[in-house]
Amino acid sequence: MNVLVLNSGSSSIKFSLFKMPEEQEISLGLIEKIGEENALVTLRVSSNETKHTQLVSDHSAGLKIIADFLADKVLINQELSAIGHRVVHGGEAYSDTQLITDEVLRKIDELAVLAPLHNPPNAEGIRVSQQIFPQANQVAIFDTAFHSTIPPYTYRYPVPNRLYQEHGIRVYGMHGTSHQYVTQQAASFLGKPLDSVNLITIHLGNGCSMTAVKNGKSTDTSMGLSPLAGLMMGTRSGDIDPAIPFFLSEQAEMSPAEIDHLLNHESGLKGITGENDLREVLRKQEQEDKPAKLALEMYCYRIKKYVGAYLAVLGSADALVFTAGVGENSPFVREKSLEGLEALGIQLDSSKNNQSVSGIQELQAEDSKIKILVVPTNEELAIAQQTFQLLSEEK
Ligand code: AMP
Repeated sequence: MNVLVLNSGSSSIKFSLFKMPEEQEISLGLIEKIGEENALVTLRVSSNETKHTQLVSDHSAGLKIIADFLADKVLINQELSAIGHRVVHGGEAYSDTQLITDEVLRKIDELAVLAPLHNPPNAEGIRVSQQIFPQANQVAIFDTAFHSTIPPYTYRYPVPNRLYQEHGIRVYGMHGTSHQYVTQQAASFLGKPLDSVNLITIHLGNGCSMTAVKNGKSTDTSMGLSPLAGLMMGTRSGDIDPAIPFFLSEQAEMSPAEIDHLLNHESGLKGITGENDLREVLRKQEQEDKPAKLALEMYCYRIKKYVGAYLAVLGSADALVFTAGVGENSPFVREKSLEGLEALGIQLDSSKNNQSVSGIQELQAEDSKIKILVVPTNEELAIAQQTFQLLSEEK
């Protein structure tokens, strides 16, 4: 079965086509700057990649380009029978993968209140894909689903009950597909049944989040109602004193929209250094740039604080798992975040940490009680697996 994975953002569509159950990625690509005259179209099949710019007026035009490319170069005479859509927010309604019906799509629209930047383009991607591929089963994979096992004393905020009852204000958590995927990979690498593995999973990409995984299930996570909470990120502040927005409103006369923009797009690494890409910040640090040094200290200190907190939550952990762009590729961040944690049973082997090897790696020193792993994430494959599994069960 061919499974197309679609990730529709506000101005982009990312796709991967997998042959399942072989898990073979046949084709992938990305359309960026949708809505602009010079949208960037990248299409790949096997090792042949083409890039060009053209007018892509909307998501429908973008998906049509992908559909034509697949029909022409990849699927030749084969029908596409399944599409897995990444959907950011499933609220309390969805704790697992869903076959998309009118009711599910209506709910995804409703949940846009909780994810105003993400759910509307996700829903648009589904609608367009229903028109272009009417014969295919459409499946939604929710980024919040893995965190549906977090208990109430953790997901509730200490604010009046009505905020939860009337507005759904609680912790939902994000990056669930990635945390779940690396949890499964780590359990199998460690040779432990999924339901007895305890991990701290550390997803460090443009967005960053950590999850305490108890017996294979999410029991706490650093993002909250929105992806703004928790760790310091590329452009997002992560945890700050909740009084700061009121202060900014009163003292700097900023509007809610301006404060939202400031904390989501102008903060984090970018706020301290002017750069949101960690590679640039590392480069600046090498040139003795003081803001870069400070930003990296702040970034790693916050990861360390969550490691301590989640170790307390779990009691004990089999492994810490680093993943995503920074987690998989930055020895500096791994080392600095875990510095001084020997008393907690966490000790990195510096030379293993600095080796560049692909696939799952073990980085702990011999004396370390807790293992330290790098597990490459693959959200596209995880979505294809879940789509395939749901449709196989339905048969
Ligand atoms: P992701 O969201 O998973 O694609 O991760 C994006 C982040 O990973 C960016 O901040 C990149 O700077 C960072 N990244 C990618 N490669 C490296 C690398 N070799 N060293 C440090 N950071 C990296």
